[in-house]
Amino acid sequence: MVEMGKLLTEGKGKRVYATDDPGKAIVYFKDEAMAFHGLKRGRILGKGEVNNAVSRQFFQLLTKNGIENHYLEQVDNRHSLVRRVEIIPVAVKVRNRAAGSLAKRCGLPVGEKMEPPVVEFALKDDYLDNPLVNGTHIQAMKIATAEEMRQIVQTALKVNDILTEYMKEINIEVIDFKLEFGRFEGRILVADEISPDTARFWDSRTHEPLDIDRFRRDLGNVEQAYQELLHRMMGMDEAGEMRE
Ligand code: ADP
Ligand code: MG
Repeated sequence: MVEMGKLLTEGKGKRVYATDDPGKAIVYFKDEAMAFHGLKRGRILGKGEVNNAVSRQFFQLLTKNGIENHYLEQVDNRHSLVRRVEIIPVAVKVRNRAAGSLAKRCGLPVGEKMEPPVVEFALKDDYLDNPLVNGTHIQAMKIATAEEMRQIVQTALKVNDILTEYMKEINIEVIDFKLEFGRFEGRILVADEISPDTARFWDSRTHEPLDIDRFRRDLGNVEQAYQELLHRMMGMDEAGEMRE
């Protein structure tokens, strides 16, 4: 049993605790929700449990596909044990369709297909409003090396293929998602979370969002959407067969 130690950091969606092992941390998933750089705040009941379970499912899927990530094991409904990494403070976004800030910034209709998928980097710095940067900014600011960025982009695109294929089976289209990477013993791991807080998941048929956009855009049925996503990922597929 690993013991939960002191609080290392608290962010918008999670708290990260030290453990008695310096290479491991425990992540706690909160129900609090935030949007528009903290201008909108609220609570999505049960979100922490959904994000813990969904994130676990995705990380295990990545592991099966040979993609190194921070995930170790679930502790309970809201806590997971992960490798304690040195986070590279860059949000790496992959976008298969225009939505959110991309649609706004480039004047694209929401839902426009992005082919090839768009990869974006933003500095993880709330005071600077998470500015969009490119690979040379990141290298020049010594945030990551060219080789690290090459590996990060390659991994992000691989993750996109894996998530897209997996979610298709439960009639969900992956519109976009954000990853964070961390350094651990000389390697680069996918860290943080992969959840409806950090991705856009649309029902393939209705294009209804099953993600944080329901909260951001006051679409209603926020809790239900999180539960629906969890249910589809964990339980039955549409043909009534259990997922493996
Ligand atoms: P944010 O407000 O930046 O979205 P979160 O609440 O999502 O923060 O997460 C809390 C913090 O935990 C973030 O700074 C994130 O980068 C960090 N973090 C995620 N995974 C790990 C890990 N494996 N080791 C150390 N820190 C991590
Ligand atoms: Mg976060």
